[in-house]
Amino acid sequence: MRLKGNLMAQIFIAFGIAIILGVIFGPSIEVIKPLGDLFLRLIKFIIAPLILASLVVGVASTGDPKQLGRIGVKTVSYYLVTSAIAVAIGLAFAYLISPGKGVNISVPEAAAQVNETDGVIATLLNIIPENSFTALSSGNILQIIFFAIFVGLAITLVGKKAKPVYQFFEGFAEIMYKITGIVMWFAPIGILGLVAPVVGEYGLSVLMPLLKVILTVAIACFIHVLFVYSMAVKKFAKMSPMKFFKGMAPASIVAFSTCSSAGTLPVTIKNTQDNLGVPKKISSFVLPLGATINMDGTAIYQGVAVVFIAQFYGLELSLIQLLMVVLTAVLASIGAAGVPGAGVIMLAMVLSSVNIPLEGIALIAGIDRILDMFRTTVNILGDASASVVVAATEDGLWSDDVNEPQENELEV
Ligand code: ASP
Repeated sequence: MRLKGNLMAQIFIAFGIAIILGVIFGPSIEVIKPLGDLFLRLIKFIIAPLILASLVVGVASTGDPKQLGRIGVKTVSYYLVTSAIAVAIGLAFAYLISPGKGVNISVPEAAAQVNETDGVIATLLNIIPENSFTALSSGNILQIIFFAIFVGLAITLVGKKAKPVYQFFEGFAEIMYKITGIVMWFAPIGILGLVAPVVGEYGLSVLMPLLKVILTVAIACFIHVLFVYSMAVKKFAKMSPMKFFKGMAPASIVAFSTCSSAGTLPVTIKNTQDNLGVPKKISSFVLPLGATINMDGTAIYQGVAVVFIAQFYGLELSLIQLLMVVLTAVLASIGAAGVPGAGVIMLAMVLSSVNIPLEGIALIAGIDRILDMFRTTVNILGDASASVVVAATEDGLWSDDVNEPQENELEV
């Protein structure tokens, strides 16, 4: 318990020091960036084997395809509803604060990146890997989930003969959780290396003209997290929002610093299991899926960005157009990958659905890293809240006194 608190304190202190160093040294603090990259790589190398092993064990230990189907339906419904609420909140705050009115910046020359999407059928087909080992080696999360679910189900169907395979994955998953715990001890240094260069790079002159956009995104994210997730965990799991946010603090800071919800995944999984009592069976399914398709922060950002760009060009959006934005922003957030800057690329799709000039993207692309920090944090908190809600409405959460059996000593 003491170790846990120490690590949290160290992470917060590192965060504070990073801001101070960034302000003092400016862009030259870039030299410590390799420390951040090192940390990022250390958590990323865990992802593919962790998802595979923990999901195989999760599915095989459920042993009931019906329950699995129910968990899937609940998870996807929760993700869709909260993402739609997120866009609505983003739109509401953008109209309230009007970040695009009176902005005095010229549209940069840079042509906006237009995203070429694969189309719905190809995207769905692509969930089935042509080669499961390629899926693992390229880290395609949806394909790994697909493979793992089938292996887990088949282990149950085969029965006795498959037991050694089950035990192998069980042990392997424990090893990956252990590695996550060990890597987290490096988090304070990693966070220093990730945050200081960002603070150093963005001077006030870059941020000031767009301060209103940053504030709008930050406030909308804050309200969404505070109301939607607090209410969800309280209503469905009788969990105090305080416990939820405290338990997710390490993952939140990692998400804020790395701007990658896929990269944060091992920490998100570990926090929900160790601090919120989500059974592995649930977290190993709900969270990897969420890191790929559920991005409430990205949805909020799309809503704000559309209104900001429309206001900048003096365009009015009709009610039908706003509904179109909700629909396309939800789709864009599903399609966005959990990597830095994915949201801004998907913005092209939302803008073109309501005929807003794509050049507008260039207006906010310069501060995307800052906006990404807020939206990624919301993205992982949304996934975590889903895991709490789904777990509470299935077999229940582990309480503080009765923890899920595990041999971890290095808790995060
Ligand atoms: N960076 C975000 C994430 O990883 C995605 C985005 O750019 O909106 O969740």
